[in-house]
Amino acid sequence: MGKYVAKDAKMPSLVLMFGGTFDPIHHGHLRSALELTQVLPVKKVHLVPCQLPAHRGQPSATAAQRFAMLNLAIQHEPLLYSDDRELKRTGPSWSVDTLESLRQDYGEAQPLAMLLGWDAFLGLPSWSRNERILELAHLIVLARPGQMHEPAEAILQLLEKHELSAGENLNASPAGRILRLSLPSAFEVSATHIRRLLANNLSARYLLPDTVLDFIHQQKLYQPKHSPAVFSSE
Ligand code: ATP
Repeated sequence: MGKYVAKDAKMPSLVLMFGGTFDPIHHGHLRSALELTQVLPVKKVHLVPCQLPAHRGQPSATAAQRFAMLNLAIQHEPLLYSDDRELKRTGPSWSVDTLESLRQDYGEAQPLAMLLGWDAFLGLPSWSRNERILELAHLIVLARPGQMHEPAEAILQLLEKHELSAGENLNASPAGRILRLSLPSAFEVSATHIRRLLANNLSARYLLPDTVLDFIHQQKLYQPKHSPAVFSSE
């Protein structure tokens, strides 16, 4: 999938926005964010948990708990930044509003890219003011093993119009291009899988940072609804 762009020697200049429910944050999110800083000249990654997800049901953990888990996960990574701007807004968290706000902070000339997995990208045609998104930012679309469904016609048209061509790079313009990438450590973990493991009293260790897992246990998140019978009397 896509092109792999080696990090160039120039000053880091790209700003990335990585939004999600992060219910909980896991190594799929974290390795993606970190590896992008290693393959592209990135100066900062804003990880932005949503308040109310626009395209799905209510998260299990509260916004404050999801933000706390994000902070625990990234505390030793200087280029990764936990950004609570969507948590300060009310109503659904539209990515386009977040990009408008980042664009205001950084100015018109700043190369800005929104990072999203292939599964999320496939839903783009139904997003609020989606045509504005590529005016505000580039898109970096990550291969996500286990989630590589076929694109609809609208997505194919977007790729035809906006996909970065060989020799081009995202720093050449502030917005408007799409880069597809398959990162070296792409793997299949999802927050749904982690919540299911925990709801079934199974370990989720090694799918997310230990600090986050400890927090989940302390706060009694994602627990089994009914205590399963460990021993049966029959
Ligand atoms: P859930 O299972 O609850 O839907 P999720 O694991 O997909 O959660 P989200 O917080 O919904 O996580 O995802 C935020 C963004 O991270 C989305 O763009 C999604 O495609 C991307 N993403 C999630 N997991 C991975 C992964 N393992 N590899 C690459 N991208 C991922």
